[in-house]
Amino acid sequence: MKILRLILGDQLNANHSWFSTVDSEVVYLMAEMRQETDYVTHHIQKIIAFFAAMRYFAAFLDKQGHHVRYYKLNDPKNPQNLPELIKQVLAETKAIQFEYQLPDEYRLDNQLREISASLAVVSRSVDTEHFYTHRDTLKVFFEGKKQLLMESFYRMMRRKHGVLMQGDQPFGGQWNYDHDNRKKWSGNPPILAHGIPYIEVTHLETEIKTAGITTLGQVNARNFIWPVTRLAALQLLDYFCKVLLPNFGTYQDAMCQGEPFLFHSKLSFALNAKLLGPQEVVVRIEQEYHNRPDEIHISQAEGFIRQILGWREYMRGIYWREMPLYEQCNKLENTNPLPEFYWTGNTHMNCLKQAITQSLETAYAHHIQRLMITGNFALLMQTHPNEVDAWYLGIYIDALQWVEITNTRGMSQFADGGLLATKPYISSANYIRNMSNYCNNCKYNPKEALGDNACPFNALYWNFLADKRQFLSRNPRMGMMYKLLDKKNPEELRALQEKAAAVMAHPERF
Ligand code: FAD
Ligand code: SF4
Repeated sequence: MKILRLILGDQLNANHSWFSTVDSEVVYLMAEMRQETDYVTHHIQKIIAFFAAMRYFAAFLDKQGHHVRYYKLNDPKNPQNLPELIKQVLAETKAIQFEYQLPDEYRLDNQLREISASLAVVSRSVDTEHFYTHRDTLKVFFEGKKQLLMESFYRMMRRKHGVLMQGDQPFGGQWNYDHDNRKKWSGNPPILAHGIPYIEVTHLETEIKTAGITTLGQVNARNFIWPVTRLAALQLLDYFCKVLLPNFGTYQDAMCQGEPFLFHSKLSFALNAKLLGPQEVVVRIEQEYHNRPDEIHISQAEGFIRQILGWREYMRGIYWREMPLYEQCNKLENTNPLPEFYWTGNTHMNCLKQAITQSLETAYAHHIQRLMITGNFALLMQTHPNEVDAWYLGIYIDALQWVEITNTRGMSQFADGGLLATKPYISSANYIRNMSNYCNNCKYNPKEALGDNACPFNALYWNFLADKRQFLSRNPRMGMMYKLLDKKNPEELRALQEKAAAVMAHPERF
């Protein structure tokens, strides 16, 4: 009377009710499959991190007494795809029931429904018991409302889960401290490095290379910093709370050459692989705030909690509300290719060079680098969102489609026409100069828009506004930008458009 239970690579939730009792009739199935390594070109560290985390998780279950069947990448019996794998193991184990946890990605959700429908045995799906919300919570919450404002969803979540609340009011009197959280970082306060031990991954790198999987980026003992066990994830959370949280919010938007992580938590991989639950992170942050009131201002704790209780759950809700059409939206009708230097970092534009090189080296960039450097430039270049999505889905350690596409196609590329963001996140060099030190080390002058030394962002910015007038000029939040554009004399605008056309035709020359 055996039951076969599938565990996907991002379902490593040790606290799931499946594992609360050991049942000799239950077989857990895990596999490292080519269908997952090959659907996009991934960063080598991303594949290593998922496979390493899966192996540790299988060993953990085994130690608890559970029966686990684990197929490594190079196992000759590994069929490398889900339909064959499930059928093969059902036949071998003679299981009479197949169970799986609901996947977070539409692609896998569809595939598992199809597989289930084709099986001769009973099939059942269960919740992952990870998120605060269900797939349709956001859809129901916004039913009949015109705008899907993150802020109203977030306030509902704070009230519902009693997070940072004093009765019905927000702790500290304000819901949102975003305005306090916009400082540039110039070396102070210092950032103390964390002491999480490096996990040896050379054998995994060799296995992936021997299998002939195409990857991007690099890995070495210095730059692989990802927690691949629950213990390491908890240590990273601990380090974040003790060392970084007091300054998280203040420098949340800052960027600095040579400091890829600043005060960010680096918890996204652990969260997305479900080594950590969002509730335990939020509860811990709230406790830290209450226990260390002199050290941790409400703006720091609220700023961090908003990312997890607000943005993360909101993005997941948008994904399930909008897929599968979301994958095709391109409301600004952008068609250009992504510049080749996104894959190499080989450009004179220092902000892009730093953000891309860092991403290739670490599989990480923080939110503002993703949004206001690489995302901003891709949008100003009028890049097709499919190309932008493929890059973001491959390069980042935390990239899974449910959270990647909503951030990239929606928030960053405005391809949904404003469902998720009230205006496109575009800027000239001015924003980058204000929030980073990148421009100090750049060949280009951020204050110039025309001429050989002029920063390419500037001409691209004005050109974008002119090109996309039909889509954006009626947006009330763009009114000021269009007023400034309309003040430009026709000759200047023509020169800016010519310069932008030159950058768009040959980005590799800049
Ligand atoms: P911190 O700054 O320390 O934030 C804490 C946590 O909050 C993160 O770990 C994450 O779980 C959550 N969070 C913060 N911002 C967001 C957000 N906008 N959406 C959802 N969760 C958020 N995040 C991913 O997890 N996977 C992605 O594939 C992804 N792609 C992105 C693509 C673009 C173009 C942009 C602009 C953002 C993307 N993000 C993505 C959101 C965000 O950039 C990352 O979650 C964050 O940089 C991860 O680093 P951290 O753990 O140090 O985050
Ligand atoms: Fe980037 Fe322009 Fe600043 Fe150079 S001058 S770092 S290209 S914003």
